[in-house]
Amino acid sequence: MKPAELLAKIRVVLCRPSHPGNIGAAARAMKNMGLSSLYLVTPRQFPDPEADARATDAVDILAAARVCASLDEALAGATLAVALSARPRDLGPQPRAVREAVGDLLAAAARGEVALVFGNETTGLSNEEVQRCHAAVTIPANPEFSSLNLGAAVQVLCYELRLGAYGGTPPSADPTTPFASPPATHDEVEGFYAHLERVMTDAGFYNPAQPGRLFPKLRRLFGRIRLEKDEINILRGILAATQEKTGFGRRD
Ligand code: SAH
Repeated sequence: MKPAELLAKIRVVLCRPSHPGNIGAAARAMKNMGLSSLYLVTPRQFPDPEADARATDAVDILAAARVCASLDEALAGATLAVALSARPRDLGPQPRAVREAVGDLLAAAARGEVALVFGNETTGLSNEEVQRCHAAVTIPANPEFSSLNLGAAVQVLCYELRLGAYGGTPPSADPTTPFASPPATHDEVEGFYAHLERVMTDAGFYNPAQPGRLFPKLRRLFGRIRLEKDEINILRGILAATQEKTGFGRRD
């Protein structure tokens, strides 16, 4: 199954969220990471302008969110329900750290629908809610301050799932940087070194009879930055202008 299809089978369930802003933040976190299915169990206030504002371009996820009267309703159709909790709960499943659990969550998503169940901002998940889940996952945060903001917890889960679904290297939007040109070839770089050597020799900066470490060092410097064609042209243009003015390195 393709990574995007796997992520589409993972739903985020927010139990009794109090702050519409957190619902919006969760929607944004989901869309940023390629998830789309949001369930809200008795939200205190929804829809709400604050949720829309925090969701920004993820308002489509809010518009499609399913508002449920109970957790059972939100879990209908799911084959695996996972409780998200900062602390172990009475009679609940033993929590695993998120990165260790991601492989199993994705394997389950390949076979059925997976629900990630998040708790209320103040009280977290109730024991009854946790006991309805088959597994528990924790974000291994600072033990002295382990409870994340609800939207932030959704973000961490969605990010780990995205990394897992794409085998650690999700595609980026556009790997090219503005104004980049193709990489220079070996012969173009060698042409630049030869040009530089002529100008430096005539300028008295370099003595081919006593080369020392200058060229190995310059090769190391330029090798590190992986010169592009445009950059070679600029550097050779500078050398050519210097030759023009000073006569250094002229061939004639
Ligand atoms: N004060 C609550 C936590 C509320 S945070 C408590 O102590 O339980 C809101 C929700 O975000 C939690 O119910 C949980 O689903 C999720 N969450 C926050 N921090 C988390 C962590 N470190 N690991 C897993 N889930 C976390």
